[in-house]
Amino acid sequence: MGWQGEGLELAAPEVELERLLRGAYPDARGRFGPFGGRFVPETLWGAITRLESVAKAALVDPAFIAELSHQQRVWVGRPTPLMRAENLSRAWKADVWLKREDLAHTGAHKINNALGQALMAKRLGVSRIIAETGAGQHGVATAAVCARLGFPCRVYMGAKDVERQQPNVQRMKWFGAEVIAVTSGEATLRSAIDEALREWVSDPMGTHYLLGSAVGPHPFPWLVRTFQSVIGRESREQMVSATGAGALPDAVFSCVGGGSNAIGMFHGFLGDRSVQIFGAEAGGTGDAPGLHSATMAQGRPGVLHGSYSLLIQDAGGQVGKTSSISAGLDYPGVGPEHSFLHAIGRVKYVPVRDSAALDAVREMCRLEGILPAMEPSHAVAAAKAWCEANPGRRVLINLCGRGDKDMPILMRNL
Ligand SMILES: *Cc1c(COP(=O)(O)O)cnc(C)c1O
Repeated sequence: MGWQGEGLELAAPEVELERLLRGAYPDARGRFGPFGGRFVPETLWGAITRLESVAKAALVDPAFIAELSHQQRVWVGRPTPLMRAENLSRAWKADVWLKREDLAHTGAHKINNALGQALMAKRLGVSRIIAETGAGQHGVATAAVCARLGFPCRVYMGAKDVERQQPNVQRMKWFGAEVIAVTSGEATLRSAIDEALREWVSDPMGTHYLLGSAVGPHPFPWLVRTFQSVIGRESREQMVSATGAGALPDAVFSCVGGGSNAIGMFHGFLGDRSVQIFGAEAGGTGDAPGLHSATMAQGRPGVLHGSYSLLIQDAGGQVGKTSSISAGLDYPGVGPEHSFLHAIGRVKYVPVRDSAALDAVREMCRLEGILPAMEPSHAVAAAKAWCEANPGRRVLINLCGRGDKDMPILMRNL
């Protein structure tokens, strides 16, 4: 990690982990060690500080928690199952468990955060919700919850993604959302976030920006993690009740785009020192610039979308080009808490090639009768490689979404 010479202040890893576990991070400035913060225009200050104080009050209000868990149960379908993958276990000579977030309403973990923030928006007193989306899963989740709670909804989506994700565009429209195709920049997720932030600046107090990953200015990385932590909390309880007290996994795997499903899963196990934790990022087709979205392996610290974190940059310090077979992992940045966990070494981040992720889709279909999304297939591939090197161990994989949305890509590549 050559960038550690850049004046980033971090204490010893064990000290920093203790700070995180006892809730000292994010600190008052929204930082995890040196990472995070709130790099926003003056005009957004009122909205993000209001969001922080309303969120802190709601999350300790029994009425809010009761409403959230009720909607999680009857509308989202929680708790999602934890499943032992018997056939994968046999094939990999390991004990393989899957957290089935693909069975959550609308087909991915995105709904956990969308529901939580939309209930929060009622308390903010805003009259409308805006969101960005990449592959469309966050847009669909937000459009769905806005339909249910009665918010007008506008979703910004890169024009390139609008082209390649038509079924999700149609779903959003049926839920009553307005979909805006963004043509600036590379016309993908990064441009969609740029545009949503721009729109928020024009009406910060009347609009809630329902950000879809553990990125952006404080309090978003913390708030999104809080709503996604249900994944790790349930997984831990389900694993203990299925396999006996104290019987935790040896290793836990999630894919990392912005990092929301991963941070939600990881928080269930960060305090268990015996559990190794791995994030799988998009290794694309090669290590050369532009061929991957491997932010941890190839990024340097910088500011993007209101937060200081690792970031893929070109030689001149401009945000670098990225690519991945999975739209959900195709993002040059990553949530600040992941940069922190990487820097202190509590989580290991591994790039996984497109081809390995496709092999994992094939294997999951054939052996378990599950069509996984391209994103978690990166985590499946990373877990398989780890099991080959560490036979006979127990692994837990967050299967954070189903593959129906990827049918066009899969039909071309499988
Ligand atoms: C959006 C998405 C991702 C990437 O987002 P994170 O915030 O990194 O979780 C991964 N998997 C699926 C299925 C998604 O829809």
